[in-house]
Amino acid sequence: MRRYQNFIGGEWTAAHQQAVFVTHNPADTRETVAEYAAGGQPEARAAIEAAQAAAPAWGAMTPVARGRILSAASQILDARKKELAELLTREEGKTLAESAGEVQRAVDIFRFYGGLSYTVGGQTIPHDLPGNFLYTRREPLGVVALITPWNFPIAIPAWKLAPALLAGNAVILKPASQAPAMAMELARALAEAGLPKGVLNVVTGEGRAVGAELANHPAVAALSFTGSYTVGQTIYQRLALRMARAQMEMGGKNPTLVLADADLDLAVNLVIKAGFGLTGQACTATSRVIVEKAVLPAFMDKLVARTRALKVGPGYAPGVDMGPAVSAAQLESNLAYVRGAVAEGATLIYGGERLEEGELAHGHFMQPTILAGVKPAMRIACEEVFGPVLAVLAADDFEHALSLANSVEMGLSASLVTRDLKKAMIYAERIQAGVVKINQISTGLALQAPFGGVKKSSTDSFKEQGPGALDFYTRIKTVYLDYSV
Ligand code: NAD
Repeated sequence: MRRYQNFIGGEWTAAHQQAVFVTHNPADTRETVAEYAAGGQPEARAAIEAAQAAAPAWGAMTPVARGRILSAASQILDARKKELAELLTREEGKTLAESAGEVQRAVDIFRFYGGLSYTVGGQTIPHDLPGNFLYTRREPLGVVALITPWNFPIAIPAWKLAPALLAGNAVILKPASQAPAMAMELARALAEAGLPKGVLNVVTGEGRAVGAELANHPAVAALSFTGSYTVGQTIYQRLALRMARAQMEMGGKNPTLVLADADLDLAVNLVIKAGFGLTGQACTATSRVIVEKAVLPAFMDKLVARTRALKVGPGYAPGVDMGPAVSAAQLESNLAYVRGAVAEGATLIYGGERLEEGELAHGHFMQPTILAGVKPAMRIACEEVFGPVLAVLAADDFEHALSLANSVEMGLSASLVTRDLKKAMIYAERIQAGVVKINQISTGLALQAPFGGVKKSSTDSFKEQGPGALDFYTRIKTVYLDYSV
């Protein structure tokens, strides 16, 4: 078992009264993966004070100097990829291949922002009068807080941390308690890469206590949150009271539309990967499959056959396609959604059961699940499940499919499978989503492109990822210089 303490002011420190909590392997809960400090308000406050002390010197360094530290951290993470992927799988449950991909993403994110450091700066703007120089400076905000979920425990902290640090801010990171190891390992790598003490502080512990302090404290200039809508809304309201900058990225109810002209084998491949990959625990996972009636029977036959063949098991076992749910609570919630859908009149086509045979007895495993005959008003068609459950809806035609796709309150990612270029372009124009995928899985993002949702998936004020991520973590100052006088 690993032991981590909070990382505050560059030191690993215990929580008040040595309080701790542990994480268990979701594939075998008899295994304790790691122990953490159970931080609360005092630890959050200490982290904010450490960040306040470190922010001026860090902010005064050049972006290129800061970028060198990010690039060095990328190399350190790269050297530890295998170890980190194994730890990620033991703590969060996804398959080793999925963990390896996610760790690689963190390596690449730090490499990207390290390189981007050579371009960070303001703008020159032509003035109306001669002898005048008009330009902008891009400046750090000071102290910023990051609150992250458990489902991408290294990629999401990385895609917030790298631009926040490159911009010159001091940071307090609060990872989710289900899987904090990757955040602690990021702190270790950045410290080894030469990050000055206090520039990054990581506090583990109860979300409400740590998160409330981060949201309420006047020294925290901005807070970037990824997680559920309920928690995001609570934090947003706190930040609004003191008019602090906010970025809330929340859940999805992402559709994949399968049109009558689609390559059905491709469509099934995409739906399987986007619906059951990562055990459905992705904000961009496909959870609604909207199929034109003309191809519905043929599509369902192929979908069920492929689903039946999926191997469920521990993420570290060879040949496993789908790992466990992260926790007993998540598993129970998934199964409750399936029961609820059937009670509302949906048809359970495949799955819907917990898996407890043999080596699965001590883990949070369930079958990949397909529900058909789903109507738009059912809860299973409207609410995020965050598990391996597909709700299949029948559409009369493209227009009907599009209106079904737009009928939910969330709008994160949306796929379309078609060979019709015109329909693809209309979809990109009219779908209410932050990310549109044509003939691609609804999950998976390019780290160099903007990412974020619309509607209840996001506050939709700033995008994450890509060069534009710096906008959230910086402020622009406009300078007028008259040298004609
Ligand atoms: P969650 O909202 O339960 O927790 C997210 C974080 O908030 C955790 O660190 C948690 O400890 C903290 N927290 C909990 N209560 C808090 C409070 N009262 N005040 C402050 N912080 C608090 O979410 P989760 O279960 O960790 O993650 C799953 C959710 O995240 C899903 O809804 C998923 O769609 C969403 N998600 C969104 C994206 C995206 O980019 N849009 C990406 C991944 C996950």
